[in-house]
Amino acid sequence: MSELASNRTVSAVKNAFKEYYFRSKKIEEPARIEQREFGYSHFGQKGMTRHLSFSSMGELVATLVREVPSDVYCSNACYRFPTYPMQEKEWIEASVIFDIDGKDLDLPCVPSHTYQLCTGCMSATPPQDKQTPFTCHSCGGSKADSVSIPCSKCIDASKKELKKLLAFLKTDLGIIRDSVSIYFSGNNGFHIHVSDPDFVKLDSSARSDLAGYVSGAGLLPESVGVRKGGNGNLGSVKFPRGGIAHGWRYKMAERLKIDGSSILRLQNILVQAGGYSAFKSELEKSAKEMGTRIDAQVTTDVHRIFRMPGTLNSKSGLSKTRCEDIDSFDPFTDACVLGDTRIAVRLKCPVKLRLKGRSHNVSKESAELPAHAAVYLICKGLAEVC
Ligand SMILES: [Zn+2]
Ligand SMILES: [Zn+2]
Repeated sequence: MSELASNRTVSAVKNAFKEYYFRSKKIEEPARIEQREFGYSHFGQKGMTRHLSFSSMGELVATLVREVPSDVYCSNACYRFPTYPMQEKEWIEASVIFDIDGKDLDLPCVPSHTYQLCTGCMSATPPQDKQTPFTCHSCGGSKADSVSIPCSKCIDASKKELKKLLAFLKTDLGIIRDSVSIYFSGNNGFHIHVSDPDFVKLDSSARSDLAGYVSGAGLLPESVGVRKGGNGNLGSVKFPRGGIAHGWRYKMAERLKIDGSSILRLQNILVQAGGYSAFKSELEKSAKEMGTRIDAQVTTDVHRIFRMPGTLNSKSGLSKTRCEDIDSFDPFTDACVLGDTRIAVRLKCPVKLRLKGRSHNVSKESAELPAHAAVYLICKGLAEVC
């Protein structure tokens, strides 16, 4: 929601959030709640209130109903003293978190559902077919923020990354499914929480290695047997001592259709590619394709506070929602938890969206919409309360 939103607009959204927190049984209690750090942000204010602690869900929910934060966060880490400054908290352990965000996937559908919000006057421009430099039709300004109403293709693309990640966790890292929780982020992606006891003690640099592994970063030609020099400087083939039967080596060997005895075949592939450097960039490209697109920084940070499961995302009014069955999960229904009370809104431009199985194709300037749809559009910056 825009920081310039009117008071009536802010209070309509706050009312809808408050009602949700008042009646919701869906906010998930984190394990060992008393060892977690909580934080939240406020509507219309920058920054975040952090280093809070709650001894029970009752206490937490009472605070949410009273304060009605725009966003609520909880640490993945457990601390001995969660309210102390960071360096004195005494970190105990933290679940490993992976973040998949639809906006990082470079999807071709994105321009068709991306709106421009002028940073000067907050007026909105609907999606354009042609990418031209932005000029505000109402104030002539040239700066805009992009807001996207994700489409089903965006969600499917995130699900595809999610499935790749789950395969890495299970097959390569031996993490059992029971210790993996999957959540829709509340806007355009998924958060994967891993609470396997073998992983929760890992430090930041080990987590960085994990993130690199699942995203296929830093794979070298040597790991599949291709070396620099020799063969007229094209490079030579010598399989690594550890073989190529496991992990990424195996995945690549399968893709190249080689095994530990295919020296001639790999030599041919190397020559065809045009030598070591060319082979290296092809290998990197394949690894990126086969790996999972995650935000590595999120996984590496062991002191972060994350959107809390069951709370509302102020970028959309949808909730961060546990996802049990990936294929059938539909965020625009399953995470759309606000009510149906009608709210009269003024739209900044024509919009199309589908929520709770109902399409809203609003071309008029003002409309009465169910709260969940009105709040969604307000959160996106595309509508205001009349
Ligand atoms: Zn403008
Ligand atoms: Zn899309």
